Amino acid sequence: MSGIFPLASPEQNTGSGYENRDDIDPRYRWDLNNIYTDLADWEKDCKSIKDNIQSLASIQGSLKDGPEELLRFLQLSDSAGRLFDRVWYFPGLAFDLDQRNNELNARKQLVEDLSAQYATSTSWFDPELIAIGQATIHKWMNNNNSDLALYRFHLDEIFRQAEHVLDEDGEQLMALSARFGSTPSQTYSMLTTADATFPEVELSDGSKRKITPGTYSSLLRTLPKQDDREKIFRAHFGLYQQFTNTYASIYNGILQRGWFNARARGYANVLESKLHRFAIPSSVVHTLVESARNGMEPLRRYHKIRRKALGVEKYYLYDSFAALIQHETRYEYGDAEKQIIASVAPLGKDYQATVREAFEHRWVDVYETEGKRSGGYMASVYGIHPYILMNYHGTMDDVFTLAHEMGHAMHSVLSDKHQPFTYAGYTIFVAEVASTLNEALLLDQLLENAQSADERIVLLQHAIDSIAGTFFTQSMFANYELEAHQLAEAGQPITGEVLGEVYHNLLKSWYDDAIEDEELYQLTWARIPHFFHSPYYVYQYATSFAASSAIFDTMQSATSEEERQEVVSRYHTLLQSGGSDHPMELLKRAGVDLNDSSAVNSVVRRLDALVSQLEKELELT
Ligand SMILES: [Zn+2]
Repeated sequence: MSGIFPLASPEQNTGSGYENRDDIDPRYRWDLNNIYTDLADWEKDCKSIKDNIQSLASIQGSLKDGPEELLRFLQLSDSAGRLFDRVWYFPGLAFDLDQRNNELNARKQLVEDLSAQYATSTSWFDPELIAIGQATIHKWMNNNNSDLALYRFHLDEIFRQAEHVLDEDGEQLMALSARFGSTPSQTYSMLTTADATFPEVELSDGSKRKITPGTYSSLLRTLPKQDDREKIFRAHFGLYQQFTNTYASIYNGILQRGWFNARARGYANVLESKLHRFAIPSSVVHTLVESARNGMEPLRRYHKIRRKALGVEKYYLYDSFAALIQHETRYEYGDAEKQIIASVAPLGKDYQATVREAFEHRWVDVYETEGKRSGGYMASVYGIHPYILMNYHGTMDDVFTLAHEMGHAMHSVLSDKHQPFTYAGYTIFVAEVASTLNEALLLDQLLENAQSADERIVLLQHAIDSIAGTFFTQSMFANYELEAHQLAEAGQPITGEVLGEVYHNLLKSWYDDAIEDEELYQLTWARIPHFFHSPYYVYQYATSFAASSAIFDTMQSATSEEERQEVVSRYHTLLQSGGSDHPMELLKRAGVDLNDSSAVNSVVRRLDALVSQLEKELELT
């Protein structure tokens, strides 16, 4: 099934003005009839999948008979995959429009059951393939069997992944250990949600607010008084301070599990075990961390400008999200459409025409209604088209979200058009390139058309904060994960005190004197869910962003139209390549090499330019 790309932090919903979906012009609602016009067709395809699963299971034991059986398996498996895309998203997308609908939920579960059946009925495939041996498979492919040769990368990947697969006894032990291996992250969820008592604070205006992880960040952005921000910060971090030792013990569980898995499978360290799947060398993460830390100067400068603009004597991290000026531009949806279409002009006429088509042919479900899933995402149905879910209220964030999800949609359109089903999906390592590049183009478009200095200031703050959040914060998080894992790998004790010290030192080395030192901030490691649920994951946001910046930079700095076209065409090649190669190789097609610091340097240059522009705008007001 294709990936869903939700935003890191869904927008808070504030009511759309629509009571009923039927009150909304169909142009602004999804057309799911493009997948199936009636339920009978959906049922028919579910039945086809069942037949397909039986046929796949019947091939067991006969792969070694020759290339024909192997090809039959791969083609059957592809057609099952294509059907799964449709039968899953038909009820799945409808359910997201009204999550109170139990009938749709039941249909989703039915597909989940089918998917589990598929997995069990085909689990013999990898071991049987590996037993035949890569040399024989290559011989089959080279014997003029072009249909089979299509699967070369896919099959080679199975052999490469197998390098760290254990013998049958070993794999059985690993499967048994997986049960308790998931306990630490489950415990973390319980402690931070079900068992958490969220504090309530009284603000300076006498109002009372409950501080949850969700309201915390939105309040820090909107509260104009520093005292209120501090109060909220202390209340929120108090939640983690109270249980520091418990959190440290849970996190130790995560680190030890990672180290156990890495050693059991013969990796040198946890990082290597996480990167092997995507064939990414560890040096990429080390280079990212080092060059991002060396490039912090413009961000430090930004915080010093903010300190002055906010008029505070001491400037803390909890001041770093507050709005620089009180100004809000509303964007009518029709205007947002026009701006986004205009913004992608540099990517060529065809690209622009497809974006227009997306708006005109109901790929976007625009408005919030009761029961609709919150936030925004893009889900692509292979052979149909992508669907974008929005909860559009006309804020600037909404327009950027729309441009972001449209970037994902265009990546899928181009990949689906140029790749067979096997390679149409792509990994997160390249996924955030198209989305963030579209955001950068939109920023330029909106800055150019802004009506006032105030509007430009708000736009610039948005852009700088998003570089700080998606790139620098995630790189610093990667730095923390490296150090924490290295402690565990060296057999050092992991305590709340040790983890706090690691985090505290990182804050000092990354921010230096731009931010006032504050003891409580060393507890940040306890409040980042990704550290507990998916270690060594967040760096991918940063590398994706760096790649996108590098492409944007070369596009902008091209000295001739011919040269610019060349950059755009290389970028299209990346989008058209889907998941047909390792991510590092795919990025190279777009001219990006993450082995050196040049991509990161383009982020630093862009940030520096934006901060200078902001400084100039602030002087004018
Ligand atoms: Zn995204």
